[in-house]
Amino acid sequence: MQNTKPHAALLASPGMGHLIPVLELGKRLVTYHGFHVTLFVVATDASTTQSLLKEPYPNINIIRLPLVDISGLIDPAATVVTKLAVMMRETLPSLRSAILALKSPPTALIVDLFGTEAFAVAEEFNMLKYVFDTSNAWFFAVTIYVPTIDTNVEDKHIIQKQPLRIPGCKSVPFEDTLPAYLDRNDQTYIECKRIGIEMPMADGILMNTWEDLEPTTLRALRDFQMLGRVAKAPVYPIGPLARPVGPSVPRNQVLKWLDNQPYESVIYVSFGSGGTLSSEQMAELAWGLELSKQRFVWVVRPPVDNDADGAFFNLDDGSEGIPSFLPEGFLDRTREVGLAVPMWAPQVEILAHPSVGGFLSHCGWNSTLESITNGVPMIAWPLYAEQKMNATILTEELGVAVQPKTLASERVVVRAEIEMMVRKIMEDEEGFGIRKRVNELKHSGEKALSSKGGSSYNSLSQIAKQCELSLHFQKAKAQ
Ligand code: UDP
Repeated sequence: MQNTKPHAALLASPGMGHLIPVLELGKRLVTYHGFHVTLFVVATDASTTQSLLKEPYPNINIIRLPLVDISGLIDPAATVVTKLAVMMRETLPSLRSAILALKSPPTALIVDLFGTEAFAVAEEFNMLKYVFDTSNAWFFAVTIYVPTIDTNVEDKHIIQKQPLRIPGCKSVPFEDTLPAYLDRNDQTYIECKRIGIEMPMADGILMNTWEDLEPTTLRALRDFQMLGRVAKAPVYPIGPLARPVGPSVPRNQVLKWLDNQPYESVIYVSFGSGGTLSSEQMAELAWGLELSKQRFVWVVRPPVDNDADGAFFNLDDGSEGIPSFLPEGFLDRTREVGLAVPMWAPQVEILAHPSVGGFLSHCGWNSTLESITNGVPMIAWPLYAEQKMNATILTEELGVAVQPKTLASERVVVRAEIEMMVRKIMEDEEGFGIRKRVNELKHSGEKALSSKGGSSYNSLSQIAKQCELSLHFQKAKAQ
């Protein structure tokens, strides 16, 4: 291959929530900015990942790095965050060898949140190094701010449960704080702090947000007097990068069923790639949906008590036996109006379907953006990671979602509240206002991505320029 265009190496950590946006970034770099892209994937054997990687991606060279066995390195009960951090660390030697083996050396390495330790590899090979925070600017601000606060401030937030004040940004209420920050003796906390220190060491920070979505936080991240003291690296909002409807997705049973439903009449219920509910909560959700008398598509997983991300590494298990997880007779009684789909559904195709009018979501950032870019209002039901912060953005700042009040108290959300929220989103006056706002946001996101001067398009163009310049210098040096 002729070394004429910049070559970006992208590194995606395990989990569909990381792989999907990193792939979208790769596609944009290739299609709009003339890059050659190599995507290194630290992937599990989950069938969802396998089928995503099987799709054709022109001009993206996908290299699967061997899965590492971390069983001897961590406590079997370690959190998903700890497992991901350790997996990524153990993968570094194979990443290094794989980069060495490439015919054309990459100009830049772009890692996701869990890949910052690979900056050492980038430095060794004189590559520019970027981090792609696949979430929003507010979450990024918290991530880099927490390692800088003293124990006193930390105590006020974590022990006395006071909001965490971040210069120039919205404070984080204690209820929204990441579970990872709650136990300072846990390895998860240590890994999160390390990531928060390493991220600003990048040459630039890409985020899956856009200027008009989070203007205040982005200003704070750039303002040297405010958070900019911490985030020395420039920030580049490049979103909303959401997976488009796949050309090759077969018209499966769900999509065919949706074809026969009235316009915007169906609420889609899903808790992302790893979310699970307790048995009690599942039963209440089933009753709430039934009582609302609205049409629904529900991605159902076996219940897991006390583990909200229980399916993150176990997505292929338990697709059998849906009826046994649900209240007796539920499937028969709702046969005419609802569809329960085991484990996994073609989410983007569902959200883009004209029959879908609402999304009960765990507020993973990809799901959030997929909902916004399809103009679908939400019921925000956060479970883990930064999802409570995302839900706060959606409800308090953007007004595109409603949220169960009982979630804040960590109690089970009861059927009457679920029924009320579903009706609100699907048929009430308030729901119409929410729908109008989400459609405005959809257009604002489209504008940001437009190649005719959109802010996110321009951000990525700046990265492309830096890479072209670096390539130019490398070539000049080699001559
Ligand atoms: N997803 C899907 N089908 C499902 C569940 C999830 O296609 O049944 C996709 C979803 O469209 C999104 C990703 O998996 O792109 C989940 O990412 P998100 O950030 O929403 O949440 P996470 O899974 O990381 O918690």
